[in-house]
Amino acid sequence: MKVLDKSESIKNHEITASENLQGFLDRIKKENSHVNAFLELKDAEAVELADEIDSRIERGEKVGKLAGLVLGVKTNINVEDLHITAASKTLENYLGSYDATVIRKIKEEDGIIVGMTNMDEFAAGSSTETSYFGATENPRAPGRIPGGSSGGSAAAVAAEMCDLSIGSDTGGSIRNPASHCGVMGFKPTYGAVSRQGLLDLAMSFDQIGPFSQDAGGIALMLDVIVGHDPTECTTLNWQIPDFRGAVEKEKTQKPLKGMKLGVVKQFLDVSDDKIVDIIEGSMEEMVEMGAELVELSFDQIDLCLPTYYLINYVEFFSATRKYDGRKYGHRIEEVCGDEVLRRIHMGSYISQKEFSGKYYKKALQARSLIRKEMNKLLNGVDAIVGPTVPKLPHKIGTTLEPMEMYAYDVLTVIANLAGIPAASTPAGDVNGVPVGLQIQGKPLDDLKILEIMAALEADE
Ligand code: GLN
Repeated sequence: MKVLDKSESIKNHEITASENLQGFLDRIKKENSHVNAFLELKDAEAVELADEIDSRIERGEKVGKLAGLVLGVKTNINVEDLHITAASKTLENYLGSYDATVIRKIKEEDGIIVGMTNMDEFAAGSSTETSYFGATENPRAPGRIPGGSSGGSAAAVAAEMCDLSIGSDTGGSIRNPASHCGVMGFKPTYGAVSRQGLLDLAMSFDQIGPFSQDAGGIALMLDVIVGHDPTECTTLNWQIPDFRGAVEKEKTQKPLKGMKLGVVKQFLDVSDDKIVDIIEGSMEEMVEMGAELVELSFDQIDLCLPTYYLINYVEFFSATRKYDGRKYGHRIEEVCGDEVLRRIHMGSYISQKEFSGKYYKKALQARSLIRKEMNKLLNGVDAIVGPTVPKLPHKIGTTLEPMEMYAYDVLTVIANLAGIPAASTPAGDVNGVPVGLQIQGKPLDDLKILEIMAALEADE
């Protein structure tokens, strides 16, 4: 059942919140031992909350927008009284002492948070294999990685262990696992959603966003989590669109009529042929729905990964200085995995004064150039469409060089470098392995992306 329909059914007493939750708890019990999407559950509290929501509905009292829907939260977002470990030994005993702004909003709207989901350690990865608590398996492609770093959140939705989930996206960590697990994932414009309460990977890139099986679920979550936060200085004060209204709008025969969609040649060139075939199929579909395709060229593609990783290392290094063992458990360098340690060492080296002009400042200049060029391309079109990830997910445990791992991110880091909104939506599969279509938009044009996702979904 679609998320919006279920939400209505719960409010109309056709299904109870308790039944909805119980179905998911049964599924988690059955599947989580091998999928490993959830690291911690709050089932007793969730059952109590579901009962309480049902009583309010029975009494005819007003309930929130997420009433009775069940959610998973990436374990780098603070939820009071749950372990916020960022999947690292460093924080294995850290209990969230407060609710992040997004969590507060979810709770205010009566969403039921059932537990915390697995991820790459400190969100530094694209496979969810670097979690201190073991890898997550891709429910749609057994034996393979779910992508990352929000692999647990994507897998939880794909395996039907919850209605919705949230993750964080610094260089693709929502879109990449959404693509690999065959679900929708949305990274809003930088600043559209408050990051207050999120453990930083690289603060100038990090954004929180939702996963769902359908566009209605994404719309509902955006309606809840988007908005200015006076406690978080990077959030934007803007006219928030009606996300849900856009999805529920009656679809015409040609829902994309009048839309110009950019197709960047280089995005296809770097991707595997089988992925390109699927994406070209989606593009044909969009043309049938009335869109016009415009060929574009983005010459800075080779600059994107080095620029992103340089800035990531420096910002991550700075963010980790508080994990010195005095306040938060272990000293990070003593207990973390190889990738986190690599970033700390690289970040420390690059941050040293004598090198700053050589690397970091250059990276910031490259970032401005990438942002300028992307905005220029976006100015001539409504959105840019292409593959989300250039390769299919590998089998769990395959040894990859760091550069091979980073290569998964080439198409997703661009939106974070530019601060623009971007999402991944299911486009098809290669022998059963899901492939996602990425849609990138102008800053604060998040709604347009969602409209395209909804149109493609209605066409299925
Ligand atoms: N894979 C990218 C990285 O390792 C992106 C991670 C993310 O978006 N959190 O930095």
